[in-house]
Amino acid sequence: MTIRTRPFAAALLLLLAAAAPIDTVPVDWAMVAKIREEGLQHSRVMDLESYMTDVLGARLTMSRDMQRAQTWVQGEMARIGLINVAAEPFMDYGVTWDNEYVSLHLLEPDYAPMVGYPIAHTPGTDGRKVAQAVVVDLQVQADLERYRGTLRGMAVLVTPPVTIDLGPLTNGVPRYAEADLQALERTVIAPSRPVPPRTVRRTDLLTAEQKLAFYKVEGVAAVLQCESGWLAAVRGYSRPGSRNDGWSRAGILASPAIIAITPEHYNRMYRILGRGIPVTVELEVRNRIGERIEQAVNIVGEIPGTDLADEVVMLGAHFDTWHASPNASDNTSGVAVALEAMRILKAVGARPRRTIRVALWSGEEQGLFGSRAYVREHFGDPRDSTIGTRPAYEKLSVYFNQDYGAGQYRGIYLQGNEQARAMLTAWMAPFRDMGMTAVSNQSVGSTDHVSFDEVGLPGIQFLQDRTPGTGGHTNLDFYDTIQADDLMKNAVIMASYVWHAATADARLPRKTRR
Ligand SMILES: [Zn+2]
Repeated sequence: MTIRTRPFAAALLLLLAAAAPIDTVPVDWAMVAKIREEGLQHSRVMDLESYMTDVLGARLTMSRDMQRAQTWVQGEMARIGLINVAAEPFMDYGVTWDNEYVSLHLLEPDYAPMVGYPIAHTPGTDGRKVAQAVVVDLQVQADLERYRGTLRGMAVLVTPPVTIDLGPLTNGVPRYAEADLQALERTVIAPSRPVPPRTVRRTDLLTAEQKLAFYKVEGVAAVLQCESGWLAAVRGYSRPGSRNDGWSRAGILASPAIIAITPEHYNRMYRILGRGIPVTVELEVRNRIGERIEQAVNIVGEIPGTDLADEVVMLGAHFDTWHASPNASDNTSGVAVALEAMRILKAVGARPRRTIRVALWSGEEQGLFGSRAYVREHFGDPRDSTIGTRPAYEKLSVYFNQDYGAGQYRGIYLQGNEQARAMLTAWMAPFRDMGMTAVSNQSVGSTDHVSFDEVGLPGIQFLQDRTPGTGGHTNLDFYDTIQADDLMKNAVIMASYVWHAATADARLPRKTRR
């Protein structure tokens, strides 16, 4: 028999075919109601955010501050009611490094306090120093002779003046409009990775490490720098070479003191010196440097599963931060959301089918060290024949991560996993009223979900709103610019996604292997 399909029926069939997968993914509206009630009317997320940013403070990987915070958070997980709370060592990292004191002043030609922070994994100044500031422009080997013997006791300005970005002041930071979200959805081709430009290699160019070694030998009082035009902010990371020497005590002590300064204060000194007028500064830095190499750890905790307890749904965020502020947005906000999502699930009496495991990573800021080591240890790596995949590899459903600031979830990135579109889209339905609508197939990067995605496991980041703030990786990232509404909604949405993944009939589908 020949079936003649009428145009209307054909269109209807097409419509059904397109809609069916999402419509057949169940949404547990009863549980969503409980999660929303708990998370929006009895939220603790800002209390968590406050404790971590106000009391614990900055948490540089392998610092005493981080170790103290990791002890606290294990207690917090236990108070929430999680089981199997543990600190899992993942590598011999290096020695601990903590800044204990910074004092920085312009003395001449005009007195003014200045704002600066030591670069991580550098030594202190060995007492209070009054030093003449001098601009140094070291680029090639021949420059060394120009400066040799002239820098003893000086405070050297080693980076050029920076241009301050006034955009945030003049333009503001608008949230995503519907048109922006739709544009993100329509961008179906994953952005290609930029090809680094070919540089002309000069063999006599000095590396950052060679420059530091020169300053050390020459006996400078301190290296002063500013590498960011971020308004009023100090941005500074690790000593060049610290990763290569394994954050070692010897490496730290072989470096001069390095202080990153706000662009306004740095540029001011630079301009005065440009007039030929002397600049005198007073500075003192004290850093506490560990004696022995210690292991870095990730912190995990679980809500046990029931009939599918050997299968796992994970959520998490990196617990480590840079050292010049508590980093309220990056990534204390992600940690607060992950912990609050777990608290909500416990508070509503969730008994998931699969085990739900929260992981708070360390070593993310230095290169995803904690999550990569965890994935390798627990799930294996099909790209590496020496370890292959472990039995748990097939048992993981999905890992959800938050690390794009403190803005509200407005959608989800599929990370190129079209197989998961139906489930991840269906679970969004209860949150349309919150503006959680966009499904982008883009693959996004640079944080801990990548550690899962790169070995073929579903690792998912939410699409987060742009919100004004003082920004991550600065000395300005405190509690005050975090918007409570955004984090409360995120915790609710995270808890609901985790719940649905942990109770679905099937694990989240994976990308088609090529
Ligand atoms: Zn981050």
